[in-house]
Amino acid sequence: MLTVKAYASPSAAEPLVPTSIERRDIGPNDVLIEIAFAGICHSDIHTVRGDWGPQAYPLAPGHEIAGVVVEVGAAVTRHSVGDRVGVGCMVNSCGQCVPCESGNEQYCVAGFTGTYGAVDRDGTITQGGYSTHVVVVEDFVVRIPDSIGLDVAAPLLCAGVTTYSPLRHWGAGPGRKVAIVGLGGLGHMGVKIAHALGADVTVLSQTLKKQADALELGADHYFATNDPQTFAQLAGSFDLIINTVSAPVDIDAYLGLLALDGVLVNVGAPAEPLSVNVFSLITTRRALAGSTIGGIRETQEMLDFCAEHKLGAEIEVISAEQINEAYERVLASDVRYRFVIDASTM
Ligand SMILES: [Zn+2]
Ligand SMILES: [Zn+2]
Repeated sequence: MLTVKAYASPSAAEPLVPTSIERRDIGPNDVLIEIAFAGICHSDIHTVRGDWGPQAYPLAPGHEIAGVVVEVGAAVTRHSVGDRVGVGCMVNSCGQCVPCESGNEQYCVAGFTGTYGAVDRDGTITQGGYSTHVVVVEDFVVRIPDSIGLDVAAPLLCAGVTTYSPLRHWGAGPGRKVAIVGLGGLGHMGVKIAHALGADVTVLSQTLKKQADALELGADHYFATNDPQTFAQLAGSFDLIINTVSAPVDIDAYLGLLALDGVLVNVGAPAEPLSVNVFSLITTRRALAGSTIGGIRETQEMLDFCAEHKLGAEIEVISAEQINEAYERVLASDVRYRFVIDASTM
């Protein structure tokens, strides 16, 4: 066992505190990573506060991990000491089901092993990236290209791939009109990636507040959804809409913005069920879909794509003692656009 420094929640009702956690001994297929940066994802907050179900505490969250390999197991072939690497939302899966065999580990039939708060293959509860080190099986570790800083790379491991995967799956590219709903951690990466893929990109945000930012990030157009004119003006416009908002939205209103065969993909997850008028779908052969993160191969492809197009997340680096304050600011949408914890301050 390796005892390492971490920030963890003692319970659903308490702030995160500095502590130490155990990492398993390095097995033959494991990689020991010294963490440099860990992004703060909205999911971290929901999970540690028990919003998505009861958790085992203490719990160290964090699934946007960037660091350097410091030790490898005897059978490791994909990574070497000194490699710059990342770990996202998954640290294992069954490896044998149809989704796993096709590189879609995020849809593993047995359920993938989450980076924190999940039961690992050895029965222990996984602990995430708000820590100095992590031990991960090599197949779930990806390479971070040299041209991307580890700080701006960390959020790519969740926010980046969560938007890259549906943009690729539903063919965002030249000649395609794509709308990104919500300009937060996910949305800002959606804009950058959709723009780099060559799509015509529109941001739909509640107010005009983030217009200048959106255009700078690569959006071609920007509309405020609190203006009722927006939905009339843009009716039938888009081939693909990526909804990154995790609060409930009027799905029929957004479906109305799709052209023939258009797809509305939800990557944000409201706790409450959404209602849909089927006429919104059948009148224009529209589809309502969902997507979660991306497979390991696809995560590597996303990182290589970001390196090629010089993309990273827009970040605010914080020290570990600022985590609780950062949580409040994430909940108030007061971050442009991702907090990243400097792990050397743990
Ligand atoms: Zn996340
Ligand atoms: Zn599987």
